[in-house]
Amino acid sequence: MRCFPIFLDLRGRRVLVSGGGETALAKLRLLLKTEARICVYAAEPAPELRLWAAEGRVILTERALGEGDALCAALLYAANADPAEDARVAAIARRAGALANIVDDLEGSDFITPALVDRDPVTVAIGTEGAAPVLARRIKAETEARLDPALGALARIGAARRADVAHLGGAERRRLWSRWYDDAGPRAFAEGGEDAARAALDALIAGPEETPRGGFVRLVGAGPGDPELLTLKARKALHEADVVIHDRLVGAGVLELARREARRVEVGKIPGGPSWRQQDIDALMIAEARAGHVVVRLKSGDPGVFGRLDEELDALAAAEIAHEVIPGVTAAAAAAASAKVSLTRRGRNKAIRLMTGHDVDGFAEHDWRALAAPGATAAIYMGVRAARFLQGRLMLHGADPATSVTAVENASRAEEKIVAAPLSRLPEALAEAGVRGPAILFLGLAPRGALAAVDHLAEPALDAAGAL
Ligand code: SAH
Repeated sequence: MRCFPIFLDLRGRRVLVSGGGETALAKLRLLLKTEARICVYAAEPAPELRLWAAEGRVILTERALGEGDALCAALLYAANADPAEDARVAAIARRAGALANIVDDLEGSDFITPALVDRDPVTVAIGTEGAAPVLARRIKAETEARLDPALGALARIGAARRADVAHLGGAERRRLWSRWYDDAGPRAFAEGGEDAARAALDALIAGPEETPRGGFVRLVGAGPGDPELLTLKARKALHEADVVIHDRLVGAGVLELARREARRVEVGKIPGGPSWRQQDIDALMIAEARAGHVVVRLKSGDPGVFGRLDEELDALAAAEIAHEVIPGVTAAAAAAASAKVSLTRRGRNKAIRLMTGHDVDGFAEHDWRALAAPGATAAIYMGVRAARFLQGRLMLHGADPATSVTAVENASRAEEKIVAAPLSRLPEALAEAGVRGPAILFLGLAPRGALAAVDHLAEPALDAAGAL
Protein backbone atom coordinates (compact mmCIF):
# COMPACT_ATOMS: atom_id res chain seq x y z
CA MET A 1 0.00 0.00 0.00
CA ARG A 2 1.75 3.11 -1.22
CA CYS A 3 -1.02 5.52 -0.21
CA PHE A 4 -2.39 5.17 3.28
CA PRO A 5 -6.02 6.23 3.61
CA ILE A 6 -6.84 8.53 6.52
CA PHE A 7 -9.67 10.93 7.35
CA LEU A 8 -8.24 14.36 8.06
CA ASP A 9 -9.98 16.78 10.41
CA LEU A 10 -9.96 20.01 8.41
CA ARG A 11 -12.04 22.18 10.75
CA GLY A 12 -10.41 25.61 10.78
CA ARG A 13 -7.29 24.42 8.91
CA ARG A 14 -5.94 26.41 5.99
CA VAL A 15 -6.35 24.68 2.65
CA LEU A 16 -4.89 26.40 -0.39
CA VAL A 17 -6.14 26.12 -3.92
CA SER A 18 -4.01 27.53 -6.69
CA GLY A 19 -5.95 28.14 -9.91
CA GLY A 20 -9.20 29.76 -10.94
CA GLY A 21 -10.49 27.61 -13.79
CA GLU A 22 -12.60 24.47 -14.10
CA THR A 23 -9.91 22.21 -12.58
CA ALA A 24 -9.87 24.35 -9.44
CA LEU A 25 -13.67 24.59 -9.32
CA ALA A 26 -14.02 20.80 -9.39
CA LYS A 27 -11.75 20.45 -6.34
CA LEU A 28 -13.41 23.37 -4.61
CA ARG A 29 -16.86 21.81 -4.89
CA LEU A 30 -15.48 18.93 -2.86
CA LEU A 31 -13.58 21.10 -0.38
CA LEU A 32 -16.65 23.26 0.24
CA LYS A 33 -18.20 20.27 1.99
CA THR A 34 -15.56 20.60 4.70
CA GLU A 35 -15.14 23.22 7.41
CA ALA A 36 -11.65 24.20 6.24
CA ARG A 37 -10.51 27.82 5.73
CA ILE A 38 -10.22 27.69 1.97
CA CYS A 39 -7.83 30.20 0.42
CA VAL A 40 -7.88 30.45 -3.35
CA TYR A 41 -5.12 32.12 -5.34
CA ALA A 42 -6.11 32.89 -8.92
CA ALA A 43 -5.04 35.69 -11.23
CA GLU A 44 -8.14 35.12 -13.36
CA PRO A 45 -10.88 33.65 -11.18
CA ALA A 46 -14.02 32.16 -12.75
CA PRO A 47 -17.26 34.01 -11.95
CA GLU A 48 -18.39 31.19 -9.66
CA LEU A 49 -15.28 31.72 -7.55
CA ARG A 50 -16.06 35.40 -7.09
CA LEU A 51 -19.56 34.41 -6.00
CA TRP A 52 -18.24 31.98 -3.39
CA ALA A 53 -15.84 34.64 -2.18
CA ALA A 54 -18.72 37.14 -1.86
CA GLU A 55 -20.67 34.57 0.16
CA GLY A 56 -17.68 34.13 2.46
CA ARG A 57 -17.24 30.50 1.55
CA VAL A 58 -13.69 30.98 0.25
CA ILE A 59 -11.02 33.62 0.71
CA LEU A 60 -10.04 34.76 -2.76
CA THR A 61 -6.77 36.48 -3.59
CA GLU A 62 -6.67 37.65 -7.19
CA ARG A 63 -3.06 36.90 -8.02
CA ALA A 64 -0.80 33.85 -8.28
CA LEU A 65 0.23 32.15 -5.07
CA GLY A 66 3.63 33.33 -3.84
CA GLU A 67 6.22 32.54 -1.21
CA GLY A 68 4.76 33.35 2.22
CA ASP A 69 1.14 32.56 1.21
CA ALA A 70 1.51 28.96 2.32
CA LEU A 71 2.23 29.74 5.95
CA CYS A 72 0.38 27.40 8.34
CA ALA A 73 -1.40 25.66 5.46
CA ALA A 74 -2.27 21.99 5.87
CA LEU A 75 -2.89 21.15 2.23
CA LEU A 76 -2.40 22.66 -1.19
CA TYR A 77 -4.23 21.75 -4.35
CA ALA A 78 -2.27 22.84 -7.41
CA ALA A 79 -5.11 23.14 -9.93
CA ASN A 80 -3.73 25.46 -12.59
CA ALA A 81 -3.79 22.82 -15.31
CA ASP A 82 -0.28 24.11 -16.10
CA PRO A 83 2.55 21.73 -15.12
CA ALA A 84 5.19 24.43 -14.61
CA GLU A 85 2.94 26.62 -12.47
CA ASP A 86 1.66 23.61 -10.52
CA ALA A 87 5.23 22.48 -9.76
CA ARG A 88 6.16 26.01 -8.64
CA VAL A 89 3.27 26.36 -6.15
CA ALA A 90 3.68 22.77 -4.91
CA ALA A 91 7.32 23.55 -4.05
CA ILE A 92 6.23 26.66 -2.11
CA ALA A 93 3.68 24.63 -0.15
CA ARG A 94 6.20 21.93 0.69
CA ARG A 95 8.73 24.45 1.91
CA ALA A 96 6.01 25.70 4.30
CA GLY A 97 5.41 22.15 5.54
CA ALA A 98 2.11 21.56 3.76
CA LEU A 99 1.19 18.49 1.72
CA ALA A 100 0.71 19.18 -1.97
CA ASN A 101 -1.59 17.62 -4.50
CA ILE A 102 -1.11 18.33 -8.17
CA VAL A 103 -4.40 17.56 -9.82
CA ASP A 104 -4.15 14.56 -12.17
CA ASP A 105 -0.46 14.05 -11.37
CA LEU A 106 -0.07 11.11 -9.02
CA GLU A 107 3.74 11.09 -9.18
CA GLY A 108 4.03 14.76 -8.36
CA SER A 109 1.60 14.60 -5.45
CA ASP A 110 2.09 13.95 -1.73
CA PHE A 111 -1.51 12.77 -1.36
CA ILE A 112 -4.42 11.89 -3.60
CA THR A 113 -8.12 12.55 -3.18
CA PRO A 114 -10.19 9.38 -3.25
CA ALA A 115 -13.48 8.86 -5.02
CA LEU A 116 -16.12 9.58 -2.41
CA VAL A 117 -19.53 8.30 -1.50
CA ASP A 118 -20.88 10.96 0.78
CA ARG A 119 -23.46 10.18 3.42
CA ASP A 120 -21.90 12.60 5.87
CA PRO A 121 -20.92 11.73 8.59
CA VAL A 122 -20.61 8.34 6.87
CA THR A 123 -18.15 8.60 3.98
CA VAL A 124 -16.74 5.86 1.84
CA ALA A 125 -13.40 6.71 0.26
CA ILE A 126 -12.27 4.64 -2.73
CA GLY A 127 -8.74 4.69 -4.06
CA THR A 128 -6.79 2.64 -6.59
CA GLU A 129 -3.53 4.63 -6.38
CA GLY A 130 -4.24 5.73 -9.91
CA ALA A 131 -4.10 2.16 -11.19
CA ALA A 132 -7.73 1.84 -12.27
CA PRO A 133 -9.87 4.97 -12.16
CA VAL A 134 -12.59 3.14 -14.10
CA LEU A 135 -12.76 0.58 -11.35
CA ALA A 136 -12.97 3.27 -8.69
CA ARG A 137 -15.88 4.85 -10.54
CA ARG A 138 -17.66 1.52 -10.74
CA ILE A 139 -17.16 0.78 -7.06
CA LYS A 140 -18.42 4.25 -6.30
CA ALA A 141 -21.54 3.73 -8.41
CA GLU A 142 -22.24 0.37 -6.80
CA THR A 143 -21.73 1.78 -3.33
CA GLU A 144 -23.95 4.76 -4.09
CA ALA A 145 -26.69 2.36 -5.11
CA ARG A 146 -26.25 0.22 -2.02
CA LEU A 147 -26.28 2.92 0.64
CA ASP A 148 -29.61 4.38 1.64
CA PRO A 149 -29.62 8.12 0.87
CA ALA A 150 -30.93 8.70 4.40
CA LEU A 151 -27.94 6.93 5.94
CA GLY A 152 -26.16 10.16 6.85
CA ALA A 153 -29.20 11.54 8.63
CA LEU A 154 -29.71 8.24 10.43
CA ALA A 155 -26.09 8.20 11.54
CA ARG A 156 -26.36 11.76 12.88
CA ILE A 157 -29.53 10.95 14.78
CA GLY A 158 -27.89 7.80 16.10
CA ALA A 159 -24.74 9.65 17.16
CA ALA A 160 -26.81 12.04 19.25
CA ARG A 161 -28.28 9.12 21.22
CA ARG A 162 -25.16 7.05 21.78
CA ALA A 163 -24.99 8.00 25.44
CA ASP A 164 -28.52 6.68 25.97
CA VAL A 165 -27.57 3.15 24.97
CA ALA A 166 -24.16 3.08 26.67
CA HIS A 167 -25.55 1.02 29.55
CA LEU A 168 -26.49 -1.90 27.26
CA GLY A 169 -24.19 -4.89 26.77
CA GLY A 170 -22.12 -5.06 23.57
CA ALA A 171 -24.24 -7.64 21.78
CA GLU A 172 -27.48 -5.96 22.79
CA ARG A 173 -26.21 -2.60 21.64
CA ARG A 174 -25.13 -3.96 18.29
CA ARG A 175 -28.57 -5.52 17.84
CA LEU A 176 -30.26 -2.25 18.61
CA TRP A 177 -28.12 -0.38 16.11
CA SER A 178 -28.61 -3.06 13.44
CA ARG A 179 -32.34 -2.75 13.83
CA TRP A 180 -32.04 1.02 13.65
CA TYR A 181 -29.93 1.11 10.49
CA ASP A 182 -31.38 -1.92 8.70
CA ASP A 183 -35.02 -1.58 9.43
CA ALA A 184 -36.62 0.87 11.88
CA GLY A 185 -34.58 3.93 10.84
CA PRO A 186 -34.91 3.80 7.04
CA ARG A 187 -38.58 2.89 7.29
CA ALA A 188 -39.45 5.74 9.64
CA PHE A 189 -37.35 8.18 7.61
CA ALA A 190 -39.12 7.19 4.40
CA GLU A 191 -42.48 7.67 6.08
CA GLY A 192 -41.94 10.89 7.99
CA GLY A 193 -38.44 12.30 7.59
CA GLU A 194 -36.01 13.13 10.37
CA ASP A 195 -38.61 13.70 13.08
CA ALA A 196 -40.23 10.33 12.49
CA ALA A 197 -36.81 8.68 12.46
CA ARG A 198 -35.89 10.32 15.76
CA ALA A 199 -39.13 9.07 17.29
CA ALA A 200 -38.47 5.58 15.99
CA LEU A 201 -35.07 5.53 17.66
CA ASP A 202 -36.58 6.71 20.93
CA ALA A 203 -39.08 3.88 20.70
CA LEU A 204 -36.32 1.37 20.02
CA ILE A 205 -34.34 2.55 23.04
CA ALA A 206 -37.35 2.69 25.34
CA GLY A 207 -39.24 -0.29 23.94
CA PRO A 208 -39.07 -3.86 25.12
CA GLU A 209 -36.33 -5.96 23.54
CA GLU A 210 -37.98 -7.76 20.65
CA THR A 211 -35.07 -10.14 20.54
CA PRO A 212 -35.25 -12.70 23.31
CA ARG A 213 -32.50 -11.96 25.79
CA GLY A 214 -31.11 -15.43 25.29
CA GLY A 215 -29.63 -14.46 21.93
CA PHE A 216 -30.54 -16.36 18.82
CA VAL A 217 -29.26 -18.63 16.13
CA ARG A 218 -29.33 -18.16 12.39
CA LEU A 219 -28.78 -21.30 10.36
CA VAL A 220 -27.24 -19.87 7.25
CA GLY A 221 -26.44 -21.31 3.83
CA ALA A 222 -22.91 -20.29 2.85
CA GLY A 223 -23.28 -21.40 -0.77
CA PRO A 224 -20.70 -23.48 -2.64
CA GLY A 225 -17.62 -21.36 -1.86
CA ASP A 226 -17.61 -18.22 -3.99
CA PRO A 227 -18.50 -15.38 -1.59
CA GLU A 228 -20.43 -13.68 -4.38
CA LEU A 229 -22.89 -16.55 -4.29
CA LEU A 230 -23.97 -15.66 -0.77
CA THR A 231 -27.42 -14.14 -0.38
CA LEU A 232 -27.57 -10.55 0.86
CA LYS A 233 -29.34 -11.87 3.92
CA ALA A 234 -26.53 -14.30 4.65
CA ARG A 235 -24.03 -11.48 4.35
CA LYS A 236 -25.97 -9.36 6.76
CA ALA A 237 -26.21 -12.27 9.19
CA LEU A 238 -22.43 -12.71 9.02
CA HIS A 239 -21.91 -9.02 9.75
CA GLU A 240 -24.09 -9.27 12.81
CA ALA A 241 -22.78 -12.50 14.27
CA ASP A 242 -20.89 -12.68 17.57
CA VAL A 243 -20.02 -16.32 16.96
CA VAL A 244 -19.77 -18.23 13.68
CA ILE A 245 -19.97 -22.00 13.98
CA HIS A 246 -19.07 -23.36 10.58
CA ASP A 247 -18.51 -26.55 8.66
CA ARG A 248 -15.17 -27.47 7.15
CA LEU A 249 -16.45 -26.96 3.62
CA VAL A 250 -17.37 -23.29 4.10
CA GLY A 251 -15.05 -21.20 1.93
CA ALA A 252 -12.40 -18.96 3.49
CA GLY A 253 -13.66 -16.02 1.45
CA VAL A 254 -17.09 -16.41 3.01
CA LEU A 255 -15.73 -16.57 6.55
CA GLU A 256 -13.83 -13.37 5.94
CA LEU A 257 -17.11 -11.52 5.73
CA ALA A 258 -17.76 -12.06 9.43
CA ARG A 259 -16.83 -9.20 11.74
CA ARG A 260 -13.21 -9.23 12.77
CA GLU A 261 -14.16 -9.63 16.43
CA ALA A 262 -16.56 -12.51 15.78
CA ARG A 263 -15.38 -15.84 17.17
CA ARG A 264 -15.13 -18.62 14.61
CA VAL A 265 -15.50 -22.26 15.55
CA GLU A 266 -14.96 -25.00 12.98
CA VAL A 267 -17.04 -28.06 13.67
CA GLY A 268 -15.89 -29.90 10.58
CA LYS A 269 -16.73 -33.42 9.70
CA ILE A 270 -13.81 -34.80 7.75
CA PRO A 271 -15.06 -37.69 5.62
CA GLY A 272 -13.88 -40.87 7.26
CA GLY A 273 -11.88 -38.88 9.82
CA PRO A 274 -12.40 -37.37 13.26
CA SER A 275 -15.45 -35.19 13.59
CA TRP A 276 -17.58 -33.25 15.98
CA ARG A 277 -20.54 -35.22 17.24
CA GLN A 278 -23.89 -33.71 16.27
CA GLN A 279 -24.96 -33.41 19.91
CA ASP A 280 -21.81 -31.42 20.71
CA ILE A 281 -22.54 -29.01 17.87
CA ASP A 282 -26.11 -28.63 19.13
CA ALA A 283 -24.87 -28.04 22.67
CA LEU A 284 -22.38 -25.41 21.51
CA MET A 285 -25.03 -23.48 19.57
CA ILE A 286 -27.37 -23.55 22.53
CA ALA A 287 -24.70 -22.52 25.04
CA GLU A 288 -23.60 -19.58 22.89
CA ALA A 289 -27.16 -18.41 22.36
CA ARG A 290 -27.90 -18.71 26.08
CA ALA A 291 -24.85 -16.56 26.77
CA GLY A 292 -26.70 -13.83 24.84
CA HIS A 293 -24.74 -14.13 21.62
CA VAL A 294 -25.98 -13.81 18.09
CA VAL A 295 -24.92 -17.12 16.59
CA VAL A 296 -24.54 -17.95 12.93
CA ARG A 297 -24.47 -21.64 12.22
CA LEU A 298 -22.89 -21.58 8.80
CA LYS A 299 -23.32 -24.56 6.53
CA SER A 300 -21.98 -25.06 3.05
CA GLY A 301 -24.50 -24.79 0.21
CA ASP A 302 -28.06 -24.79 1.46
CA PRO A 303 -28.50 -25.77 5.10
CA GLY A 304 -31.46 -27.98 4.20
CA VAL A 305 -29.60 -30.21 1.74
CA PHE A 306 -27.62 -32.98 3.44
CA GLY A 307 -26.89 -30.54 6.22
CA ARG A 308 -28.57 -32.22 9.20
CA LEU A 309 -30.70 -29.12 9.48
CA ASP A 310 -33.67 -30.86 11.06
CA GLU A 311 -31.58 -32.24 13.89
CA GLU A 312 -30.26 -28.79 14.72
CA LEU A 313 -33.71 -27.22 14.42
CA ASP A 314 -35.11 -29.86 16.77
CA ALA A 315 -32.37 -29.19 19.30
CA LEU A 316 -32.93 -25.43 19.15
CA ALA A 317 -36.69 -25.79 19.46
CA ALA A 318 -36.33 -28.13 22.42
CA ALA A 319 -34.02 -25.62 24.11
CA GLU A 320 -36.46 -22.80 23.25
CA ILE A 321 -33.81 -20.78 21.43
CA ALA A 322 -35.15 -18.35 18.84
CA HIS A 323 -33.82 -19.16 15.40
CA GLU A 324 -34.27 -18.70 11.68
CA VAL A 325 -33.06 -20.40 8.52
CA ILE A 326 -31.44 -18.51 5.65
CA PRO A 327 -31.21 -20.58 2.47
CA GLY A 328 -28.16 -20.81 0.25
CA VAL A 329 -27.09 -21.92 -3.22
CA THR A 330 -26.78 -25.66 -3.01
CA ALA A 331 -23.78 -27.40 -4.60
CA ALA A 332 -25.96 -29.03 -7.31
CA ALA A 333 -27.16 -25.63 -8.53
CA ALA A 334 -23.63 -24.22 -8.54
CA ALA A 335 -22.23 -27.32 -10.25
CA ALA A 336 -24.90 -27.20 -12.95
CA ALA A 337 -24.08 -23.55 -13.58
CA SER A 338 -20.39 -24.41 -13.88
CA ALA A 339 -21.09 -27.21 -16.36
CA LYS A 340 -23.54 -24.91 -18.15
CA VAL A 341 -26.33 -27.45 -18.01
CA SER A 342 -29.79 -26.94 -16.63
CA LEU A 343 -30.96 -29.23 -13.87
CA THR A 344 -34.24 -29.95 -15.62
CA ARG A 345 -35.09 -29.68 -19.27
CA ARG A 346 -38.30 -30.30 -21.09
CA GLY A 347 -38.15 -33.48 -23.05
CA ARG A 348 -35.08 -34.67 -21.19
CA ASN A 349 -35.80 -34.84 -17.48
CA LYS A 350 -38.89 -33.67 -15.64
CA ALA A 351 -37.33 -34.46 -12.32
CA ILE A 352 -33.96 -34.52 -10.70
CA ARG A 353 -33.08 -36.32 -7.52
CA LEU A 354 -30.75 -34.88 -4.95
CA MET A 355 -29.15 -37.95 -3.43
CA THR A 356 -26.18 -38.83 -1.32
CA GLY A 357 -23.58 -41.46 -2.12
CA HIS A 358 -22.97 -41.90 1.57
CA ASP A 359 -25.02 -42.03 4.71
CA VAL A 360 -24.42 -42.93 8.33
CA ASP A 361 -24.33 -46.63 7.43
CA GLY A 362 -21.76 -46.23 4.64
CA PHE A 363 -22.61 -46.30 0.94
CA ALA A 364 -26.25 -45.31 0.64
CA GLU A 365 -28.91 -47.57 -0.89
CA HIS A 366 -31.44 -46.05 -3.29
CA ASP A 367 -34.17 -47.00 -5.72
CA TRP A 368 -31.62 -48.31 -8.20
CA ARG A 369 -34.21 -49.57 -10.65
CA ALA A 370 -35.66 -46.06 -11.07
CA LEU A 371 -32.18 -44.52 -11.25
CA ALA A 372 -31.05 -47.02 -13.90
CA ALA A 373 -34.04 -46.24 -16.14
CA PRO A 374 -33.32 -44.28 -19.34
CA GLY A 375 -33.55 -40.53 -18.76
CA ALA A 376 -33.21 -40.72 -14.97
CA THR A 377 -31.28 -37.76 -13.63
CA ALA A 378 -29.66 -37.24 -10.27
CA ALA A 379 -27.27 -34.90 -8.52
CA ILE A 380 -25.22 -37.10 -6.26
CA TYR A 381 -23.63 -35.46 -3.21
CA MET A 382 -20.76 -37.16 -1.39
CA GLY A 383 -20.46 -39.54 -4.30
CA VAL A 384 -16.76 -39.58 -5.19
CA ARG A 385 -15.72 -42.34 -2.80
CA ALA A 386 -18.90 -44.24 -3.66
CA ALA A 387 -18.29 -44.03 -7.43
CA ARG A 388 -17.51 -47.72 -7.94
CA PHE A 389 -20.41 -48.76 -5.73
CA LEU A 390 -22.80 -46.43 -7.61
CA GLN A 391 -21.59 -47.74 -10.95
CA GLY A 392 -22.01 -51.35 -9.84
CA ARG A 393 -25.51 -50.88 -8.47
CA LEU A 394 -26.72 -48.93 -11.52
CA MET A 395 -25.30 -51.40 -14.06
CA LEU A 396 -26.70 -54.32 -12.08
CA HIS A 397 -30.13 -52.77 -12.46
CA GLY A 398 -29.77 -52.37 -16.20
CA ALA A 399 -28.37 -48.86 -16.63
CA ASP A 400 -26.93 -48.11 -20.08
CA PRO A 401 -23.11 -48.16 -19.70
CA ALA A 402 -23.00 -45.14 -22.03
CA THR A 403 -25.09 -43.01 -19.62
CA SER A 404 -23.44 -39.62 -19.17
CA VAL A 405 -21.97 -38.77 -15.81
CA THR A 406 -20.48 -35.35 -15.11
CA ALA A 407 -18.42 -34.66 -12.02
CA VAL A 408 -18.01 -31.04 -10.89
CA GLU A 409 -15.39 -30.70 -8.19
CA ASN A 410 -15.08 -27.50 -6.14
CA ALA A 411 -17.87 -25.79 -8.02
CA SER A 412 -17.55 -21.97 -7.98
CA ARG A 413 -14.06 -22.12 -6.44
CA ALA A 414 -10.73 -21.28 -8.07
CA GLU A 415 -9.75 -24.95 -8.21
CA GLU A 416 -12.98 -26.03 -9.95
CA LYS A 417 -12.71 -29.08 -12.19
CA ILE A 418 -15.24 -30.69 -14.53
CA VAL A 419 -14.90 -34.29 -15.66
CA ALA A 420 -17.31 -36.05 -18.03
CA ALA A 421 -17.37 -39.82 -18.50
CA PRO A 422 -19.73 -42.62 -19.47
CA LEU A 423 -21.00 -44.58 -16.50
CA SER A 424 -18.89 -47.57 -17.64
CA ARG A 425 -15.68 -45.59 -16.98
CA LEU A 426 -16.76 -43.50 -14.00
CA PRO A 427 -14.33 -44.65 -11.26
CA GLU A 428 -11.37 -44.69 -13.64
CA ALA A 429 -12.16 -41.25 -15.07
CA LEU A 430 -12.41 -39.75 -11.58
CA ALA A 431 -9.14 -41.34 -10.51
CA GLU A 432 -7.31 -40.24 -13.68
CA ALA A 433 -8.48 -36.65 -13.24
CA GLY A 434 -7.57 -36.73 -9.55
CA VAL A 435 -11.09 -35.85 -8.40
CA ARG A 436 -11.21 -36.23 -4.64
CA GLY A 437 -14.11 -33.94 -3.80
CA PRO A 438 -16.05 -32.08 -2.72
CA ALA A 439 -17.83 -32.88 -5.94
CA ILE A 440 -21.27 -33.33 -7.38
CA LEU A 441 -21.79 -36.26 -9.73
CA PHE A 442 -24.56 -35.64 -12.22
CA LEU A 443 -26.06 -38.89 -13.40
CA GLY A 444 -27.69 -38.50 -16.82
CA LEU A 445 -26.30 -35.04 -17.52
CA ALA A 446 -23.41 -34.20 -19.83
CA PRO A 447 -21.68 -30.82 -19.83
CA ARG A 448 -22.82 -28.35 -22.46
CA GLY A 449 -21.59 -29.13 -25.95
CA ALA A 450 -21.81 -32.84 -25.39
CA LEU A 451 -25.58 -32.22 -25.22
CA ALA A 452 -26.08 -31.01 -28.77
CA ALA A 453 -26.61 -34.40 -30.38
CA VAL A 454 -29.35 -35.30 -27.95
CA ASP A 455 -31.07 -31.94 -28.36
CA HIS A 456 -31.59 -32.36 -32.10
CA LEU A 457 -33.28 -35.67 -31.59
CA ALA A 458 -35.36 -34.66 -28.64
CA GLU A 459 -36.84 -31.31 -29.61
CA PRO A 460 -38.97 -32.04 -32.75
CA ALA A 461 -40.37 -35.25 -31.32
CA LEU A 462 -41.23 -33.41 -28.15
CA ASP A 463 -43.02 -30.54 -29.88
CA ALA A 464 -45.04 -32.90 -32.06
CA ALA A 465 -46.16 -34.77 -29.01
CA GLY A 466 -47.01 -31.48 -27.31
CA ALA A 467 -45.26 -32.55 -24.17
CA LEU A 468 -44.05 -30.18 -21.46
N1 SAH B 1 -25.49 -28.44 2.25
C1 SAH B 1 -24.56 -28.65 1.17
C2 SAH B 1 -24.16 -30.10 1.01
C3 SAH B 1 -23.40 -30.63 2.17
S1 SAH B 1 -22.90 -32.28 1.96
C4 SAH B 1 -25.14 -28.08 -0.11
O1 SAH B 1 -26.31 -27.72 -0.16
O2 SAH B 1 -24.41 -27.97 -1.09
C5 SAH B 1 -21.28 -32.10 1.33
C6 SAH B 1 -21.23 -32.43 -0.15
O3 SAH B 1 -21.71 -31.33 -0.89
C7 SAH B 1 -19.87 -32.68 -0.70
O4 SAH B 1 -19.44 -33.98 -0.44
C8 SAH B 1 -20.10 -32.45 -2.16
O5 SAH B 1 -20.76 -33.54 -2.74
C9 SAH B 1 -21.06 -31.30 -2.14
N2 SAH B 1 -20.39 -30.01 -2.26
C10 SAH B 1 -20.28 -29.04 -1.36
N3 SAH B 1 -19.62 -27.97 -1.86
C11 SAH B 1 -19.31 -28.29 -3.13
C12 SAH B 1 -18.65 -27.61 -4.19
N4 SAH B 1 -18.18 -26.36 -4.04
N5 SAH B 1 -18.55 -28.25 -5.37
C13 SAH B 1 -19.04 -29.47 -5.56
N6 SAH B 1 -19.66 -30.16 -4.58
C14 SAH B 1 -19.80 -29.58 -3.39
